[in-house]
Amino acid sequence: MSDLGDGTRCVHAGLPEPAPGDPFLPGPVLAAPYHLDPWKGPAGSPNGYGRPDNPTRRLLEAAVGELEGGDCRVFASGQAAITGMLLTLLRPGDTVVLPTDGYFPVRAFATDVLEAIGVRVLFVPTVGPYPSLEGVRLVLVETPANPGLDVVDVAALAERAHAAGALLAVDNTTATPLGQRPLDLGADLVVASGTKALTGHSDLLLGYVASRSAELVEAVTVWRTTTGSVPGAFDAWLAHRSLGTLDLRLARQSANAAAVVDLLAGRSDVAGLRWPGRPEDPAYAVASAQMRRMPGVLSFDLGDADRANRFIEAARLVVAATSFGGLHTTADRRAQWGDDTAPGFVRLSCGVEDSADLVADIAAALDAAAPA
Ligand SMILES: *Cc1c(COP(=O)(O)O)cnc(C)c1O
Repeated sequence: MSDLGDGTRCVHAGLPEPAPGDPFLPGPVLAAPYHLDPWKGPAGSPNGYGRPDNPTRRLLEAAVGELEGGDCRVFASGQAAITGMLLTLLRPGDTVVLPTDGYFPVRAFATDVLEAIGVRVLFVPTVGPYPSLEGVRLVLVETPANPGLDVVDVAALAERAHAAGALLAVDNTTATPLGQRPLDLGADLVVASGTKALTGHSDLLLGYVASRSAELVEAVTVWRTTTGSVPGAFDAWLAHRSLGTLDLRLARQSANAAAVVDLLAGRSDVAGLRWPGRPEDPAYAVASAQMRRMPGVLSFDLGDADRANRFIEAARLVVAATSFGGLHTTADRRAQWGDDTAPGFVRLSCGVEDSADLVADIAAALDAAAPA
């Protein structure tokens, strides 16, 4: 399938071979225990118990693994996948490098849990400079980072990490596997939240870890089975169903982001505009070399909380919500969650509405929320 286009791969990813009378994507297998062969026991079937074994989940893993170019294990959420990877790989005395400007619950987990069990945590901005990686066990980067949208050169960092004996993991949530394939760029592991653009319907939580190392995938699988952070079969099925339109959704979201960025760049009442697809953006050079398409997410600063809130309230097509990558355009004033951002900082996630409608609505909302 690797020679086919994104749309073709998304539509077919992980589906069973066609068989007359069967559905394209089999419905969710809702099972805790399965029937066992009393003589052969667990060896007699691929399915013994729902925590390690579920055929709906395996089809989704085949699909995401194919898009990422590695073996995939799905988790109950992005946080379950990321914390699961960190706890699988890190032991007391190890050093891990994490982004200062990435998803803030990961930073909170590092200081609350990892440091408490004796893991040394080094926080580094996504754009660097990265310190010597000698003695480091794992580097986790987020590129583009959420919510600031800085990017890092994954291939260059993979080379540095490997030269120092460290592993490199990339959080691919914002880009999705159609936006970039970190394993192709040299990363050892991909982690991501499938809650965002990957599934894109704002109706489920999902996470995954992917790798080409059988040893790393096995270790992550053992972690998941013993801790039990698996997604339910129905959510796994919904996620797989949503993957078929990933290419279409991303294309519209990205085109909408480009149109909104054009509008915002021309306005003197909008500051701090960030989108890696904009040639003036500090992330553009690396992003355009390493990414295959640009995300639907952008960010900007409206100066203060009051104006940001008035903007969101005035817009008809931009709804206030956290998360991103969904069908509906959403705006999130990140500071309200305790994220380390300015009070007027807004992360805007473009949905799949018509570009002209969205641009007109955002322009009108900015006018309505103009500074006094
Ligand atoms: C949302 C997000 C997560 C966490 O994912 P959940 O599915 O909400 O647990 C991790 N990393 C990034 C970059 C995210 O945006």
